[in-house]
Amino acid sequence: MNSLNNMIQEDISLKPFNTFGIHAKARYFGTFDSIETLATLLSQKKTQELLLLGGGSNVLFTKDYEGTVLLNLIKGIKKVQEDEKNIWLKVGAGEPWHYLVEYCLEHNYGGIENLSLIPGTVGAAPMQNIGAYGVEVKDSIVQVEALEIATQTLKTFDNAACAFGYRESVFKHALKNQYVITAVTFRLAKNPSRFYVEYGAIQEVLTQKGISQLNIQAISQAVCEIRRSKLPDPAKIGNGGSFFKNPIISTTHYEKLKSQYPLMPCYPVAENEVKVPAGWLIEQAGWKGKQEGKAGVHHQQALVLVNLGNAQGKEILALSKKVQASIFEKYQIRLEPEINIF
Ligand code: FAD
Ligand code: NAP
Repeated sequence: MNSLNNMIQEDISLKPFNTFGIHAKARYFGTFDSIETLATLLSQKKTQELLLLGGGSNVLFTKDYEGTVLLNLIKGIKKVQEDEKNIWLKVGAGEPWHYLVEYCLEHNYGGIENLSLIPGTVGAAPMQNIGAYGVEVKDSIVQVEALEIATQTLKTFDNAACAFGYRESVFKHALKNQYVITAVTFRLAKNPSRFYVEYGAIQEVLTQKGISQLNIQAISQAVCEIRRSKLPDPAKIGNGGSFFKNPIISTTHYEKLKSQYPLMPCYPVAENEVKVPAGWLIEQAGWKGKQEGKAGVHHQQALVLVNLGNAQGKEILALSKKVQASIFEKYQIRLEPEINIF
């Protein structure tokens, strides 16, 4: 065996590499910390089936993975451009997302503070256009650099080419499984003056703390506090965050439901469409805190399915299907998983 073959290992447990804490094995497994190593691994891979993994915080393994899993460890934060108002940072796709947020807080670069404490890597952030507390990462992304798997050539996608949408991008659809994201360039504000605090409990927490002079550090602290109080920490209870996307339904459908369920919340997204919080639907259908074997619906946030101890991925999947069926029966709304299921 030469040294290149040594880079790929066989029959590796993925348990340390997914936040659900599911024990599934990868037939082949390798890590890369540079584009060169990635290219080498791609040329050496023994299977067609390939899975790129970052922090494993948006995946559910329901069986062993028979293909090759490659773990992204490309690091680095580089200033690539600067003007009076903004700074451009090119960030390695394997950097932990919250590490980048902390770097920006330290340097007072504004734009991603509302996205504090989201698990995972920088490279996965454009995949589903991560969002929280009224901010989406698409608003700070200038370009995404990615290696085309078939040709092993590096391509650059500007913001428009990424076709960002609500928890969507071109990489999840038209270009699914075709590219490995290797770096993301962000444009951030050097002296932040625009803040987003209208959403959820942010303003409430800031008021409680007596903060009237807004800054990105205070916003980040408020977001972290709210998240820690509501969401299960994957280090303690395995989970993948929101299991389903918030469904978008027609206003006609919503009005019909509202006459039956007057407290049903909604947020307008287009002239004839509204977004309904999936967590509310699931909670009202009686699922909050329910347990089926080792799979459960979290007791504080019904949108999060949890591994209550050595659950198998297929148990979590089975529970998710029951939840989906019950929501469809009660509200005629189809919930779509946000999580990537393998
Ligand atoms: P992974 O789970 O490793 O991968 C996710 C998908 O992207 C997979 O299909 C994978 O193949 C692909 N992928 C990963 N890296 C690359 C790459 N470099 N190139 C090509 N494809 C790649 N999400 C939100 O949007 N907002 C939230 O507020 C939020 N909160 C969360 C809270 C908790 C407790 C948890 C567990 C999850 C939360 N998530 C949230 C979901 C998740 O953290 C994000 O989707 C995150 O961006 C996933 O990053 P990752 O590196 O873990 O991706
Ligand atoms: P929340 O504040 O209790 O709100 C419930 C839902 O209502 C959210 O999903 C949110 O949609 C929507 N919402 C609330 N206020 C809104 C407003 N002013 N305008 C538009 N939509 C509004 O939600 P939470 O569970 O505590 O989560 C807080 C934030 O973190 C949310 O943005 C959520 O998306 C994000 N989060 C995401 C994940 C994940 O895995 N994807 C996990 C945990 C938290 P949106 O989801 O569209 O924002």
